[in-house]
Parts: sequence; structure tokens; C-alpha cells
Amino acid sequence: NTALVWFRRDLRLADNPALSAALAAHECIVPVYVHAPHEEAPWSPGGASRWWLHHSLNSLDRDLRARGSALHVQDGDSLAKLRDLVVATGARAVYWNRVYEPAAIARDVDIKQALRDVGIDAKSFNAALLCEPWEIATASNGPYRVFTPYWRNLRARLQPHPPLPAPKRIPTASAATSTIDALGLLPRIRWDAGFDAAWQPGEAGAEAALQRFLDEAIGDYASARDVPSLAGTSRLSPHLHFGEIAPMRIAWELEQARCGGKESFLRELGWREFSHHLLFHFPHSAERNLNPAFDAYPWAPAAPRQVRRWQRGRTGIPIVDAGMRELWATGWMHNRVRMLVASFLTKNLRQHWLVGARWFWDTLVDADLANNTQGWQWTAGTGADAAPYFRIFNPVTQSERFDPDGAYVRRWVPELSAIDARSIHRPWTDPATLRRCGYPMPMIDLAASRGAALAGYDAVRHKN
Ligand code: FAD
Repeated sequence: NTALVWFRRDLRLADNPALSAALAAHECIVPVYVHAPHEEAPWSPGGASRWWLHHSLNSLDRDLRARGSALHVQDGDSLAKLRDLVVATGARAVYWNRVYEPAAIARDVDIKQALRDVGIDAKSFNAALLCEPWEIATASNGPYRVFTPYWRNLRARLQPHPPLPAPKRIPTASAATSTIDALGLLPRIRWDAGFDAAWQPGEAGAEAALQRFLDEAIGDYASARDVPSLAGTSRLSPHLHFGEIAPMRIAWELEQARCGGKESFLRELGWREFSHHLLFHFPHSAERNLNPAFDAYPWAPAAPRQVRRWQRGRTGIPIVDAGMRELWATGWMHNRVRMLVASFLTKNLRQHWLVGARWFWDTLVDADLANNTQGWQWTAGTGADAAPYFRIFNPVTQSERFDPDGAYVRRWVPELSAIDARSIHRPWTDPATLRRCGYPMPMIDLAASRGAALAGYDAVRHKN
């Protein structure tokens, strides 16, 4: 009496409803991971995500082996590989936890039907969200487009419950397996040198990150979360994306903790839920403006050389360059700085938000279709509950406000480290020093480009 447990974006043993349900109903299970990036196209995992996945799969495999099991790794079409394993092991059921992206939903619906057609029981569970995207609706039974009422609704019904424990032993049927190394997830040119020092992918790493945050940072979260030089946020985003920890588990820990900062942190998990809600109800938004009024926006012509300077952190605007270099070096960027670099690309350079979303997709270890789409559309002004079109971040005043002593800029743009705290946010005011530092002049006039963006948004208003 065997069942397959198909791991996907739930790379953990504790608090895993599909795994627990399979173990409760079957004597023996086969944990399986099918590598099928083509099934996630056009958003197949980028380079930084593949790095994370490699390490997270290894961590899961180690944890399974410690319980008498092992991860069966396959490479190919999910349905074909699951079918082969069903035949090879005599399994009667397949269990998995849901993924809420458009391509994954379409695939999973087909797979569920195909398995049931041949008499195999197929069961799916929620392991990734506080609430299913279809469970929260407006008074007129539609999806929300504005965060605050969405969050009020979700918050009122949220009842954190204790996590399911990790199973002590996992009786497993053996079957042929490939190796994680054979999936070739690590980059051939090792640009990931800084990742090892910054991250511990896997369930134990997620646990350590949560404990560090609860011990050291949650009390000051409401104020420190906006200061990019501090470790004031949880850095749980890649762990949450790969399902190494459940948001419900975090909500439960918050409920037990006695400290400030809880509501404000829970609200950020609410943004994650809201992003998933939006992508589920507006699946076109991963590719196109969520708000169609912006289809008329006059983006500037594609400017690959300008985009390259942005990607490399050579724009001449220190806070923007610091963020882009932090991203390249560690696979992560602070949220406040994500907003600033995205605003600079979409509003000052007037490049389409998808140009930035694709770069983030390849370079973020937490690249997540729902959060990335929503983050870019919100900043560009094209999304739901977006920043008003006329609010164009001024990266200089933002830098002065959130990095007052220049510590963040100094860390990531070391050429500027000798410049005093007052000038570091606008070093071009002293061109001679700037030349000595080897740092470029700003690639664009911030005030003039802001005016051009506003004129573009005016054109959208008049056309609609
Ligand atoms: P914390 O402040 O500790 O927050 C806890 C968790 O809440 C995060 O791990 C994340 O899961 C969730 N969260 C926090 N802020 C947001 C938010 N604004 N929207 C949605 N969820 C949020 N987040 C991703 O996980 N993946 C992405 O690909 C991604 N792309 C982004 C692109 C842009 C242009 C912008 C502006 C934001 C993006 N974000 C993305 C949201 C946010 O920047 C990150 O979730 C956050 O910086 C992760 O750091 P943390 O775990 O320390 O956050």
C-alpha cells in the first residue's frame, strides 16, 4: 500500500500536509522531485533560484535519509515521470501541496485528471498560504484589488494553529532515481561565490532564520524594516518561496511571542498573500499590465546600454547602485531599495517593468512570480493598489532618509567609502572627488526624467 509524495515548492518535512496525509493512509511512501523547468515557462527558474534549489533539494534528501528514506529525483515531464514511478512502485495514490502560478495550476489540473483516469487517487493540499486565494472575496464576491480591505478580511479570519511535527521515520519503497547533481542546477561560471556566506538553504536554515529574527529583530521590526544597513527584516523570503517553512508556522510563532513588531510583520506576510491572490485571479498580470489603462503608457524605446548600467550598479546614483550590487553579490536586496531601483528603471529610465522583473527573476534567490510581479507592477504604477503614478521616488532624498550615515552605500559601493555622510547620497556635487573615486556621474538627470515620466502618465490619463 504505497503512495508517491510529489515535492515541489514545499521542501520540508515538518508541517507538510501532503506528507502527513500520505503517511497516515499508506504503509510506504516514495518522496519524489521531478525537475521540469519547461513546465513553468515562460518563468522557468532563473540562475539564483536554481542555486537555491540545488542546495535545498540536498538538504531535503539528507533529512529524508536521516529518517530511513531518500528523495527520488527525476528529470523530464512531470506526468510521464509520475506515471513511471506509479508503475514501478505499485503506488495507488499521489499526494502534493499546491502551487498557485498559472502554468503550474494548468499542469496540475491535467495531471490530477490523468491520474484519476487510470484509477490513481490524486490529492492536493495547501502548504504555502495562510488562506486559499479563492477563500477571500469582496462583498460582491469578486477578487480584491486594494490591499487594506483584503488584509482586514484575511486578518479577521486568521486563526494560527500549531505546526504538524516532522515524521520520525518514513517507510519508503525503493525505485530508480537520478542524482541532484545530474540536474545541473549550479551555474557553470561560478558567479554565486557570495551566496554561500549569505544563506543556508533548507528546512534547518529556515528555522535558524526564523529564530534569529524572533530573538534579535522582531521587537524593532516596525521601524528597522526600512533601514537597509540593518538586519532588521527576517530574510525568510527564499525559505518561504521554496516552502522550507510555512507562513502559518510563522503566524503561530508570532502569536506565542511576547513582543512588539508582530502585527507589522504579519502584515508583510499579508502582502505575500495578496500577491498570490492577485496572480491567481488575474493570471495575465505576470506578462501584462494589471491595470489596462497603462497599456497606453509611452515607455521609452528599449535602451540595452542603459539597462546594462542599471544591472551592473553603474548608474551614478549611489543608493540604486548599492542595491543592484547587493543583489548581484548575495541574490537578495532590501525591500526599500527594491522599490528605489524599480522606480529608477521604470520611471527615470522609462523602461518597461518586465525588463526589470526579468532581471530580478534571474538574480534573486527569492524570485517568486506572485511577489515579483506585484512588486514591479506596484512600483511602476500599473498594478492593483499601485503607488499613485505621480509618486516617483527621489533616490537621493530616500537615501538621505533611510541610510542617513551612508552605511549601506559604503558597504556596497566601496569607491565612495571615503566620502562624508552629507555628500555620499549626491557625490556628483564634487566632480573632482568623484573622478578620483572612479565612480560615474549620474547617467540621467533625475529632475528632467521625473518630468518626462509624469508627462507620460498624463498622456495615459487623457487617453482614458
Ligand atoms: P520581511 O520584511 O522579513 O517580510 C517577511 C516576508 O513577508 C517576506 O519574506 C516575504 O515573503 C513577505 N513580504 C514582505 N514584503 C513583501 C512585499 N512587499 N510583497 C510581498 N511579500 C512581501 N519578494 C519575494 O519574495 N520575491 C520576489 O521576487 C520579490 N520581488 C520584488 C520586486 C520588487 C520590485 C519589489 C518592490 C518587491 C519584491 N518582493 C519580492 C517583496 C519584498 O521586497 C521581499 O519579500 C522582501 O524584501 C524579502 O525580505 P525579508 O524576507 O527580509 O522580508
